Amino acid sequence: MKHINVALFAPHAGCPHQCSFCDQRTISGQATPLTPAAVHEAVRTALASLPADAAANGEIAFFGGSFTLLPQAEQIALLEAAHSYIKDGRFRGIRISTRPDGIDPAVCALLRRYGVTAVELGAQSMDDRVLALNRRGHTADRTVQAHALLRASGFETGLQMMTGLYGSTDADSLATAEAICALQPDTVRIYPTVVLAGTPLAALMEAGQFQPQGLADAVALCAKLLQMFDAADIRVIRVGLHASRDVEARMRGGAYHPALRELAESRILLERAREQLAGLPAGRYTLAVAPASLSKMTGQRRCNLQALAAEGYRCTVEARDGLGSYDVLLAQNQILDIRC
Ligand code: SF4
Repeated sequence: MKHINVALFAPHAGCPHQCSFCDQRTISGQATPLTPAAVHEAVRTALASLPADAAANGEIAFFGGSFTLLPQAEQIALLEAAHSYIKDGRFRGIRISTRPDGIDPAVCALLRRYGVTAVELGAQSMDDRVLALNRRGHTADRTVQAHALLRASGFETGLQMMTGLYGSTDADSLATAEAICALQPDTVRIYPTVVLAGTPLAALMEAGQFQPQGLADAVALCAKLLQMFDAADIRVIRVGLHASRDVEARMRGGAYHPALRELAESRILLERAREQLAGLPAGRYTLAVAPASLSKMTGQRRCNLQALAAEGYRCTVEARDGLGSYDVLLAQNQILDIRC
């Protein structure tokens, strides 16, 4: 069944920092504080348009800002509003996102009391140097501790990481993913850095001190990260910022694409196809992939098939049940070109 979230944004709420990349107002597309009345309105609107069983499997999610660093009375008011829909079974649970240093035993107890089921932490990097350069105000060890506490308190956990941060390399991002895999969160989100107007990163970029990672490099890196998390059996629930006109209008550099995950998965399938074809003579081949991976194997505007054709492999793609989303198999009875 489709998983439905009612996403509520608390822009910059409770946040004691200004991270180098962050402009929560732009990301959430709003500037006013979130209120219990707004929670009720959003949830009721969702309930009116969703089948009852879809909502009962869904979550009410508080994103943006650092929820657990809001004044406690505000947290409780928002959670009480959301919890009223959990208590009677209309939604399955509540999801929040916060900073690693916004988690302690008292916070965990409060979240459990008000029906929170999943907590996502903005880890961003597991390298203290990168964290400091990007003004995160916490260390990697703090993320490890907070994650352990959330686990011990019975929450579903999520970790968010960024790529292409100021002072970061691909090797740093791969090491961050390894460290996250070792923690075994339930979910991960991967956010390539987008440089937004008015942020410290934009100032660094304008001063010539920061060259953001472009889309092609970010796609190649995300392809590697997705495979690492897949091998570690960790669900990646997001790659890249949600498509937003506000972000597009204020973006000054970095890696943004409304279908960034699809691009990265398409890259994975191209590489897997090349592995299957390596050493074979030029000719026509059929590649079998999972039904859900058909269009990704083909690539946007058939770019994967064109790339393979340029290497001498004229491929068609067929769907085969039972394959994993990144599996590519060479179908039998291939026709080889006979060249004199
Ligand atoms: S902690 Fe989160 S909300 Fe606060 S400035 Fe950093 S990224 Fe933005």
